[in-house]
Amino acid sequence: MHTAMVFAPHADDASAFCGGTLAKWSSQGWKIVLVRVTDDARDSVGLTIEETKKRNREDLEKSCEILGIKEIIHLDFATDTLADVPLTKLRERSVYLIRKYRPYAIFSFDPYAHFEPNMDHVRVARAVEEALWVSCFDLHHPEHFKEGLEPFSVCERWYFARYLEKITYAEDITEFFDKKVSALSAHETMMRNILNQFRLQLKTWGYRVPIIDEAFSGDYRGLLEQVLYLQCSQIAEECGMSEGTLAEGFRIDRFGDMEAFFQQFAEPIKDVSQGPKRLFFDKYWPDK
Ligand SMILES: [Zn+2]
Repeated sequence: MHTAMVFAPHADDASAFCGGTLAKWSSQGWKIVLVRVTDDARDSVGLTIEETKKRNREDLEKSCEILGIKEIIHLDFATDTLADVPLTKLRERSVYLIRKYRPYAIFSFDPYAHFEPNMDHVRVARAVEEALWVSCFDLHHPEHFKEGLEPFSVCERWYFARYLEKITYAEDITEFFDKKVSALSAHETMMRNILNQFRLQLKTWGYRVPIIDEAFSGDYRGLLEQVLYLQCSQIAEECGMSEGTLAEGFRIDRFGDMEAFFQQFAEPIKDVSQGPKRLFFDKYWPDK
């Protein structure tokens, strides 16, 4: 059984960006480990900091249960302040967890995506990107080895973003769309805060959108489902998938320019379980 590790700056990131894919993979037997980097202590409307922390943590537990995520690691950095945390500190925690859990694939924000207004997203993406090579070096953080850990390299990087410059692979999540909607809906504390942000902005414009007001104070699932349906069907359409398909988009990287070489010359290692065959490297796939 292979492991996938998700690096999520905040509680709702995994459901929002790759929830359908995680639900699909966990149903196929993958072990999913979610690393939640911050404490989300300020993401709410009208609650105290302590209550916000508690509720967001409970919401995350509910959403992970829906997605089949068995293990959550809370790093508890103060939310919305990762810009002030040394990158090497975030990187060291990432290296440690990669060495400890030895994931086959990682999911993370794309470190090279544009138009990302949230510095927590940017910092975690950068730290994880560096951790991917630092984790291989036996002279980086040798203190980890005293615990019995070893240098380790992740095989696949699955990057998501608000605006991916290029989707290189779309995962068909049609059958798991409902789980994605339920998992994101479970983040009630954060969802109401997002709706409140829209209300404030609309008010500045001098308008209100009744459906947003109704969702803010009542049931928001229907609205969330509509928004996610639009997103996921657009991705599927852009990627030429058949009508009615719902998908999540990623930029996947594995061996970079070495992909074709490795595809041609790789031999299975005895007594080591082989990873899934991947057909998404169209550009590098030698038979095409
Ligand atoms: Zn976030």
